[in-house]
Amino acid sequence: MTIPSLADLHALEPAQQPTYADRAAVDSAVSRLQGMPPLVFAGECDNLREKLAAVADGKAFLLQGGDCAETFDGVTAENVRNKLRVLLSMAVVLTYAASVPVVKLGRMAGQYAKPRSSDNETRDGVTLPAYRGDAVNGFAFTPETRRHDPQRLVEVYHASAATLNLTRAFVTGGYADLRQMHEWNTDFVRTSPVGQRYERIGAEIDRALAFMEACGANPDEFHTVDFHSSHEALLLEYEHAMTRIDSRTEKPYDVSGHFLWIGERTRQLDGAHVELLSKVSNPIGVKLGPTTSPDDAIALAERLDPDRIPGRLTFITRMGAGKIRDRLPELVEKVTASGVRAAWVCDPMHGNTFETENGFKTREFDDVIDEVRGFFEVHRSLGTWPGGMHVELTGDDVTECVGGGAALSAADLSHRYESVVDPRLNRAQSLELAFLVSEMLSQ
Ligand code: PEP
Ligand code: MN
Repeated sequence: MTIPSLADLHALEPAQQPTYADRAAVDSAVSRLQGMPPLVFAGECDNLREKLAAVADGKAFLLQGGDCAETFDGVTAENVRNKLRVLLSMAVVLTYAASVPVVKLGRMAGQYAKPRSSDNETRDGVTLPAYRGDAVNGFAFTPETRRHDPQRLVEVYHASAATLNLTRAFVTGGYADLRQMHEWNTDFVRTSPVGQRYERIGAEIDRALAFMEACGANPDEFHTVDFHSSHEALLLEYEHAMTRIDSRTEKPYDVSGHFLWIGERTRQLDGAHVELLSKVSNPIGVKLGPTTSPDDAIALAERLDPDRIPGRLTFITRMGAGKIRDRLPELVEKVTASGVRAAWVCDPMHGNTFETENGFKTREFDDVIDEVRGFFEVHRSLGTWPGGMHVELTGDDVTECVGGGAALSAADLSHRYESVVDPRLNRAQSLELAFLVSEMLSQ
């Protein structure tokens, strides 16, 4: 398989790319990246693909989550640990309450570039380039920070490496041991009803672990977890520079992350993003919004997975709570009838964003739940497998999405709104979601 050149990709006029003023600076950043070691290994990508094959096959459930946009400032031990902690807690709830293996995939260690609906942003009569993620420019509203800077691509590499390094240490170094599951949430249990519910599951798991240990069973799976990284493959300079031929299989892999997805705005069939990802061997995803026709999805599957490799392709639907029951049935039915065997995953976030009167971009927790419920209803009625969920969340107690057990209101959003792009579920809302989904899974 030959990889298209960067010039070939640019000839396809890719959407949502930075506009760099200094071409020499871009070339220098690209050549730095080309010389860097891989962030992930091809064999790890293959392992994840096998796990996703089980998802597509109805035998496992995918939990994919993390920030809408990671930031360079967010690469701290506390932040990474908190995100990991909420994902691991959610995975325990789902595994225990629904007895389904859960594939754990961080939307992290690379999620630094954002597609935007508008190129510019105007504040108080001043217009500057929109923030496109730390990979492209800075969030502060000044001409200097909003300039597109190719040197940031090299910083993405280092921030991803630091995050992955810490993540690998956490998941294999004892923190992910199931016997630690109480420690993950001790502070939180006292203050929240969902924390208490979690603690009850914890007590049951402790008894089960003690029983198994007494029987002489103490498998590795109780002490470490498999955790993989993912991000939207948006910036062609970066993803292309990180695409390498694996010496073992002689196939190209994008070694910037284990799993890459193509966003709703860049999934044009003849576009550069589809072209590049069609050539790499990683497991990949495509976001499908409410305007996607069954023929669009089938054509994407033909281009991205012509050999129908199990676990290669995941469709991440993001229809909106009001549309999912209307749009999803025909899509899933026709795509399945065509012989495509993709994993189906629900992103209940991106179709449910709105702005409050006091000016916050938010999502209603009940809409998020309703979209997941609709996703389960549709798949159950078709006899297909609701394979997982893709969520924007954080391990911190932010106030970005309204509703949930603590009934956050629009007025509460100003307390702790920290996202630089889309609103995330906080820790309590994320755990509540896991409990609700575990009920849907076990029905
Ligand atoms: C995202 O995942 O943050 C995003 C921009 O999603 P979509 O491509 O589905 O709009
Ligand atoms: Mn987002």
